[in-house]
Amino acid sequence: MALDVARQAEWASSALAHPGTFFIGGEWVAAASGATFTTSDPGSGRLLAEVPLGGGPDIDAAVTAAREAFAGWRNTAPLERAAILWRVADLIEAHAEELARLETLDTGKPYDHSFSYDLRSAISQFRYQSGLASRVNGQVTPMATMRGGLFHSYTRLEPIGVIGAITPWNFPLANVAWKLAPALACGNTVVVKPSEETPLTTLRLGELLTDAGLPAGVVNIVTGDGSTGRALVSHPGIDKITFTGSTATGQDIVRAAADNMTRVSVELGGKNPNVIFADADIDAAVAGAVAAGYWDSGQVCSAASRFYVEESVLDRVLDGLVSAVSALPIGHGLEPGVEIGPLISLKHRSKVAAYVEGARAEGIEVALGGAEIDREGGFYQPTILLGAGRDATVMREEIFGPVISVVPFSDTDEVMAAANDSTYGLAAAVWTRDLAKAHRFTEAIEAGIVWVNTYGVVDPAYPWGGHKKSGWGRENAEQVLREFTEQKAVTMQVGTL
Ligand code: NAD
Repeated sequence: MALDVARQAEWASSALAHPGTFFIGGEWVAAASGATFTTSDPGSGRLLAEVPLGGGPDIDAAVTAAREAFAGWRNTAPLERAAILWRVADLIEAHAEELARLETLDTGKPYDHSFSYDLRSAISQFRYQSGLASRVNGQVTPMATMRGGLFHSYTRLEPIGVIGAITPWNFPLANVAWKLAPALACGNTVVVKPSEETPLTTLRLGELLTDAGLPAGVVNIVTGDGSTGRALVSHPGIDKITFTGSTATGQDIVRAAADNMTRVSVELGGKNPNVIFADADIDAAVAGAVAAGYWDSGQVCSAASRFYVEESVLDRVLDGLVSAVSALPIGHGLEPGVEIGPLISLKHRSKVAAYVEGARAEGIEVALGGAEIDREGGFYQPTILLGAGRDATVMREEIFGPVISVVPFSDTDEVMAAANDSTYGLAAAVWTRDLAKAHRFTEAIEAGIVWVNTYGVVDPAYPWGGHKKSGWGRENAEQVLREFTEQKAVTMQVGTL
């Protein structure tokens, strides 16, 4: 039976128990100004919901609510905080199908991706970080310059206070979980500003947080656009901003945060290399390359877009890629079996198309795709570019679409230098059966995340973040403690000098 996109859009508009409102101090309220914006299905262009557009007064109310809730939450017993986070995970799991459907309608990504990655990531993040709540440990360290018996000295890790969390549109629920779970585990309170493109699952999560027993004001959600985000960053009551999004916005945030010396961590864009040596398992490398380049139509910060392939296997890899990529089912994210959904908006599709036209104008060969797809929604053909030089725009800028460049190489030093020739440094992968080559690559590559003979494996126990213009700080893992606590050094004299 054909998918009824109109009915799906109607369902989405009724999926929130409190439509037309956001979440401040435990209450569902409209924007103080009454302003709203709309979010729509990128696969059909249909309206999904009208959402409040938050402004300065709403941010102010949310920060005040978070501040008022802070003392109570930081003093809640760690295991009580952990139990609430675990309940949040249980509730997300109980509503996984509904949330995955809502995520697919708002982002356009295939339902199987929403269900198998986004939902699992959010659930595992809340479960993993619930364990952090009772491990926010300082250290007792002997003083280096003092003889024993004089001082008792130790460090305390304390919650920072009110955190502003700003998320992008491509992994709305997973990204907000990556921020909320550790921030709350450490005893902070939070004001969330989701992307204007995809606010729905974050709002639905707000409803589930209340059901999980989270006290009022501990998490507040203010929907809106970049101006709402700016109001949050520059609010003097915000102690730290945790941001995921583009490098350009990250740079704006860093500049704005300087006024109040607000702490910041920023997870930004990528231009990630995927290196295939001739000695690799080529079938596995091709299958990995398809996922690396085209998962969620390439709208992934860690997507590979620079493919370096050893010359002797170039034809084999290219043939494999062309046949696998041509076979990827394209369609609305709720159609069964779809692997390539629409881009997030028609505007974003125009940006992707302009990169490909620019490449053509620079004389770069379009080996596959390279055109918009004539159907409802912002669809673009999976595309392979061949012969791009190091300085080509498509090799330097993040396209954020289903467009990869394949470049041959013949020498290990040459490919290492090329792989590192980027202002970004988020993720990278190498395919080889040679252990020494793999180790050499993992050591030399300037990236925060490296995969060997696989691509895109993500786990809450492993740190996530980039080098260079891909960001500051790390999410996931126990090290995330450093992002959500302040250290205090305590020195107590106990003996006579
Ligand atoms: P974006 O930078 O346009 O927007 C991200 C968020 O910032 C949105 O909520 C937006 O409203 C808000 N915002 C915009 N201007 C702002 C300002 N001046 N001050 C404060 N907030 C502002 O990014 P996007 O298009 O939503 O997301 C795609 C980008 O995110 C890509 O570059 C991608 O690589 C990156 N990303 C990175 C990671 C990572 O983990 N490194 C993960 C996902 C996405």
